[in-house]
Amino acid sequence: MTVGSASTIETFDRWVIPNYRRYPVALVRGEGSQVWDADGRSYLDMFPGWGCNVLGYSPPQLVKAIQEQAARLIHVPNTWYIEQQGEFAEFLCSRSFGRAFFCNSGAEANEAAIKLARLHGGGSGRYRIITFENGFHGRTFGALTATAQPKYHEGLGPLMAGFRYSRMGDLEGVRQLIDDETAAIMIEPVQGEGGVRIPPPGFLQGLRDLCDEHGLLLIFDEVQTGMGRTGSWFAYQQSGVQPDVMTLAKGLGGGVACGAMICRDEIAEDLRPGMHASTFGGNSLAMAAGLAVGHIIEQEGLLEHIKEQAVYVREELESWREQLPIINEIRVCGMMIGIELTIPAGRAVGMCMDRGVLINATNDTVVRLLPALNVTREDLDKALAVVRQVLAEMANEI
Ligand SMILES: *Cc1c(COP(=O)(O)O)cnc(C)c1O
Repeated sequence: MTVGSASTIETFDRWVIPNYRRYPVALVRGEGSQVWDADGRSYLDMFPGWGCNVLGYSPPQLVKAIQEQAARLIHVPNTWYIEQQGEFAEFLCSRSFGRAFFCNSGAEANEAAIKLARLHGGGSGRYRIITFENGFHGRTFGALTATAQPKYHEGLGPLMAGFRYSRMGDLEGVRQLIDDETAAIMIEPVQGEGGVRIPPPGFLQGLRDLCDEHGLLLIFDEVQTGMGRTGSWFAYQQSGVQPDVMTLAKGLGGGVACGAMICRDEIAEDLRPGMHASTFGGNSLAMAAGLAVGHIIEQEGLLEHIKEQAVYVREELESWREQLPIINEIRVCGMMIGIELTIPAGRAVGMCMDRGVLINATNDTVVRLLPALNVTREDLDKALAVVRQVLAEMANEI
């Protein structure tokens, strides 16, 4: 009999659909930014839960909130009023705007936004949505079609009708795509999977102006940037541009499946009773988790902490440039960190893992870190030292 990660891998090989490329490691226990595999090795995780574990692994206060809620009530459907759902909606909307609809994932949140845009535009024959190259909105057919990256579409056609793609930064291009059938413009305020790409100054405001001019909804996909990730509750708050609709997931439940769509009060009623639903959406357990995450972020002053950490990280990474000419661009947005290389970044992930640090690479050439919002300076320093060493080795090999 095999033990540890090998045993889990063996079971997977027989029973689990192989639609993911996985590293040959089973993670079994975590604390803060540290996580252990089934063979007892520990890692510093600078990408915990693909951005979902905003408070790192099993923060005690979140664990307690989940345990208490589970013991009281795990799930009731939306045929009833759900105490924690109302409270979490109030928590989120009083820190942003409008009203909330809850679901379980980012793709679902975006499906809700797409439906809302069509229902809102329906009266005037508007249904089309403009999205952006290198964007990522999820894997369900609506969200997938919104995702203007051909590699995710291969073999899946025909896709959903009613989307047009533009280029981030090209306001004139967006203007030319708008016609009488356009209902909305949808964009990530910072592109995550696309490589921590920050829109050029004025671009989001330009989209806001176009939407106002043509009566379109502006939808911000904050699935990755929301819940404090960038150093404000939501990234739009730093851009000064208010969307009509915002979608959330990833960090919302601190690792518990939870998604939300927030929209302005005046358009909330377009999502009429019977037109949309989610069986698990807004259940007591997920809502209790979300509330706990929100309260912890506030009690621990993490938004302030992130701003300081981000300044520190940026300075640190900038100081690497001289010795590491393979660094093309450094993009830091709170605890959303992208290091764009002049060479493919994929190898860095395995090399860091071998040295006990977990990171991610995306969009071919971008090393991406999404550390827990409460990552300590000590853990951050240790991890960054390893990333630097790995990049130096990669630079030496070319
Ligand atoms: C991850 C992500 C999604 C998809 O979320 P899922 O929970 O995997 O469906 C959508 N939009 C953005 C910006 C994301 O980062």
